[in-house]
Amino acid sequence: MLQTPVTQDLVLIGGGHAHVEVLRRFGMQPEPGLRITLISRDVHTPYSGMLPGLVAGHYDFDETHIDLAPLARFAGARLYHDEVIGLDLLTRQVLCRGRPPVSYDLLSIDCGATPSLAVPGAAAHAVPVKPVSSFSARWEALCARVQRDDAPLAIGVIGGGAGGVELLMAVHHGLARLPGVDLARLSFQLVTSGDDILPGHPARARRLYRRALDAAGIALVTGFTVSAVEPGAVRATDGRRVALDEILWVTQAAAPSWPHDAGLACDEDGFIRVDACLQSVSAPGVFAAGDVAAVEPYPRPKAGVFAVRQGPPLAANLRRAARDEALVPFRPQRRFLSLVSTGARHAVASRGPFACAGRWVWRWKDHIDRRFMRRYGELPAMGEDTAGTDGDAAAEAMRCGGCGAKIGAEVLREALAAIAPGARADVVIGLGEPDDAAVVALPPGRLAVHTVDGFRSFIDDPWTLGRVAANHALNDVYAMGATPQTALALVTLPFADNARMQDDLVQLLRGAGEVFSSADVALVGGHTGEGAELAVGFAINGHVAADAVVRKRGASPGDALVLTRALGSGVLFAAAMRGSARARWIGAALETMCQGQAAAAACLVAHGAHAMTDVTGFGLIGHLCEMLDGRRATLALGRLPLYAGAEALVLADVHSTLHAENRRAHRHVEPRHGADMAARYELAFDPQTAGGLLAALPAERAAHCVAELHRAGYVDSVVIGHVGDGDGPLVTVD
Ligand SMILES: Cc1cc2nc3c(=O)[nH]c(=O)nc-3n(C[C@H](O)[C@H](O)[C@H](O)COP(=O)(O)OP(=O)(O)OC[C@H]3O[C@@H](n4cnc5c(N)ncnc54)[C@H](O)[C@@H]3O)c2cc1C
Repeated sequence: MLQTPVTQDLVLIGGGHAHVEVLRRFGMQPEPGLRITLISRDVHTPYSGMLPGLVAGHYDFDETHIDLAPLARFAGARLYHDEVIGLDLLTRQVLCRGRPPVSYDLLSIDCGATPSLAVPGAAAHAVPVKPVSSFSARWEALCARVQRDDAPLAIGVIGGGAGGVELLMAVHHGLARLPGVDLARLSFQLVTSGDDILPGHPARARRLYRRALDAAGIALVTGFTVSAVEPGAVRATDGRRVALDEILWVTQAAAPSWPHDAGLACDEDGFIRVDACLQSVSAPGVFAAGDVAAVEPYPRPKAGVFAVRQGPPLAANLRRAARDEALVPFRPQRRFLSLVSTGARHAVASRGPFACAGRWVWRWKDHIDRRFMRRYGELPAMGEDTAGTDGDAAAEAMRCGGCGAKIGAEVLREALAAIAPGARADVVIGLGEPDDAAVVALPPGRLAVHTVDGFRSFIDDPWTLGRVAANHALNDVYAMGATPQTALALVTLPFADNARMQDDLVQLLRGAGEVFSSADVALVGGHTGEGAELAVGFAINGHVAADAVVRKRGASPGDALVLTRALGSGVLFAAAMRGSARARWIGAALETMCQGQAAAAACLVAHGAHAMTDVTGFGLIGHLCEMLDGRRATLALGRLPLYAGAEALVLADVHSTLHAENRRAHRHVEPRHGADMAARYELAFDPQTAGGLLAALPAERAAHCVAELHRAGYVDSVVIGHVGDGDGPLVTVD
């Protein structure tokens, strides 16, 4: 199959309201040769219009958040879950908190703004409403506090704009509906520096909203410019003090500092100055939209509605920029419909000088908001993959296979220079002074241990893939009770120009390198070629004392079976490929899969593990049957640790492609479990990537072993069954 080589990188910073539309549009119409990478601190974007409804209890998390993982997959974009902390405009690189710099040709920034916490004490004693992910945790804590304590509690929102009033009414409504909460002991105050709420809204809308505040018993404190926040109170410039136990901060938006620090032209408040084409006035090829942008010809308040409106013109101009065509300015509308909810299923609407309120207004708002969310949740079927059929680019894509598919020496040299391959005294010849092969000294009296493992990319993030692949390969060595020493890499890079290949290689090897250096393993060589898709494998070499080898067979009667990690990675990533796994499930699973298991193996061995393996492609039952070698054992399905989302996906009939093959091991099993364990049983056949260690050790030492594993951070570790007397099938129980 011909592949269009990647010739340009568009990097999107932030999965904000404008970028979700950019992704949708590029998904509908891919741009040949343009690779899109979305870097976002959060992988679920809260939709601003429904956020108060979430707090009020009208919606759940998934109804109010756009899941960026399926959307990115639809757009053919790589999703990097990371926080941007800087930019290098000279080298065109985005600097991230957790990974190597990401190169771009075109850059677009839609990372929003956060309430300004510049007032002394605000950062320490107030709860900002953004980032929403942190606010959600504080909101849950507040709910718990209100339910737990009987004491009176004063709750205040600082900020009288639409966000502030809506949030306070939602908090009031949300707390009122909690079981066992007596509203009479709670007091609510809205504190604003203005002389009224809802600046910029017509007088009638303000009147209608004040009436709603009154009806809810919410006190309005106007003309109060907070100058200091203390524990339990806010103080005004004029000396007034309002006592508040919970202070929610919804004030004027503040810009992140890194765009200004990078040298992008910004206004006096730090927002990125862009022209009517949404392009930076100082850096061609850099675009910005949403709250973080200051559109010079058309200043507007910071509101999600403007970010949403900027999505289509931003997408169109990014496409024009990629094609080297002239950009087209857009003109935002001046008036817009504002729908502000009042806690209960009731809202105030205004447009221009007109305003009205009622339950029907809320239903109207609800209809609009749900329609918006459906745009990004129910994605249209993907069209023809233009990436593989484009004429000129396809001709360029005729590339050699075999030895000719090896990538250029220059690319390799530059990439290797950008990573630290790790240094070990026993590496006689390694990447420091490359040769045809590496030469490594073995410690005297030790046996050499060799293993190789690898796979096609199942995530569009080479840095994370490198970390997972390195851990996956190392697990084989740990499962032998051995110490890893060196690694060799086998990498296939997708067709692209040299700079992009080098970039991918650096990302991948840096990710792997971090894992190897924390395991004291030196990368000593490898082979890199190009192909249709990213693939990676590592050969790991290690050593072990002859009398310390832990085989996989050898489980004996009286042993407990300990598993160190959750199951379900196979089904999760199968679902992710189809765009039907939640981003937070994938994020949580990847975090576990990137955890090294050296300490887990040492702990298991120290507790007498005499049979051990790592759970990978054959699934738990496949690997367990190898360990048991015909011995009888009982597996408690109810105890199996599972990744979040895995059971729900199996119940929705999603399976990994290897599942059917693995399920043939069913013939070795005597199922005695109930129907409610059926999904768990299927997950016992799920193939794992970077799966847990499975060990058989004396039952009397198992509880202590598991406690130690928990202390060492292997929080899912658990005894999943026991080995019985004699031979027989593996028995499953609930
Ligand atoms: C309670 C409340 C209610 C509101 N209600 C409304 C309303 O009804 N209507 C309305 O129009 N507006 C409303 N707003 C305002 C609205 O929330 C914002 O204007 C809107 O979210 C801005 O959208 P955005 O695209 O600029 O950024 P956001 O939607 O804030 O998205 C920013 C994205 O960037 C990511 N990000 C942030 N920093 C980084 C980083 N350094 N690196 C990588 N990723 C990063 C975030 O994770 C997120 O994905 C409300 C605000 C609040 C607080």
